[in-house]
Amino acid sequence: MSQQLINKLCIIGVGLIGGSLARALKKSDAVGEVVGAGRDVTHLEKAKALGVIDRFETDITLAVKGCDMVVLAVPLGAMQSIFEKISVVITDDMVITDVGSAKGSVVRAAQSAFKTLPKTLVPGHPIAGTEKSGVEASFAELYENRRIIITPLESSSDYAVSKVISMWQACGADVVETTIEHHDEVLAATSHLPHMLAFSLVDTLAKMDAKNEIFEFAAGGFRDFTRIASSDPDMWRDICLANGNALVAMIEKFSDDLQQLSKAIEKNDSVYLKDVFSRAKKARDEFCDN
Ligand code: NAP
Repeated sequence: MSQQLINKLCIIGVGLIGGSLARALKKSDAVGEVVGAGRDVTHLEKAKALGVIDRFETDITLAVKGCDMVVLAVPLGAMQSIFEKISVVITDDMVITDVGSAKGSVVRAAQSAFKTLPKTLVPGHPIAGTEKSGVEASFAELYENRRIIITPLESSSDYAVSKVISMWQACGADVVETTIEHHDEVLAATSHLPHMLAFSLVDTLAKMDAKNEIFEFAAGGFRDFTRIASSDPDMWRDICLANGNALVAMIEKFSDDLQQLSKAIEKNDSVYLKDVFSRAKKARDEFCDN
């Protein structure tokens, strides 16, 4: 039998992101056995029935035993307790990565759990996803031609970094490296702020007396803009708590610009309005063309 990239993979949190990773690695024949871990046996049984995992454990220390790759695909608030469980059984050849949407908080959680950061730990974040949750929503093509950001640590070994890169490349993804600080600032702007706008807009409208009429008259643009407000509330609470400083800075910056826009409308300042809309259209068109 040919040697696979990953002999035994443990996915902790077999939901949309972890389930899609397992499916993609199985599809490209890059993995031997896939062990799933989580809290709810019915979720894990569903994952096994769907062929996403080969077997499962609810005890993390048993789940990771003998694995050469362990992926934490749980909400950010659950990372530390899982690192603590892994810290008791970690071995030198166990590469550990995660998929968390903020990176500073994951490294702080790992630091607290392991005391000395393991050489085999390489944080990561797939820039791919949907507004759906759970293993039923997972699919093997999620990472194809999508970007994966990894944020190797000073302690990360070349071997671990290259194994994590190869894992994502086997899913058809494009892997880029950056620092934790840069990741968290950029993601606050490109992902976390837009989610705040979508959640906040829908919430504002839903609280209005005429909400039924408002939603009835909403057209495709409203649906497009607010799709991400259907994302999992627990996951987004955790992301806000994990990347608070960078996110608050972006919300303040955006609020200032929105205030300026409001004043320009009040003053019938057509030049200001046209300038903002033209700059935004040009920037978006260029981004989409690329
Ligand atoms: P999901 O579909 O809800 O899956 C999360 C999984 O984690 C579930 O299978 C859940 O199973 C398990 N879980 C939750 N708490 C746990 C705990 N304390 N111990 C063990 N397992 C636990 O969520 P997801 O969208 O895949 O997100 C997972 C991670 O990916 C998050 O950190 C998120 O920030 C990141 N991410 C998400 C997206 C996205 O678009 N969704 C994109 C990039 C990154 P049980 O309930 O059975 O335990």
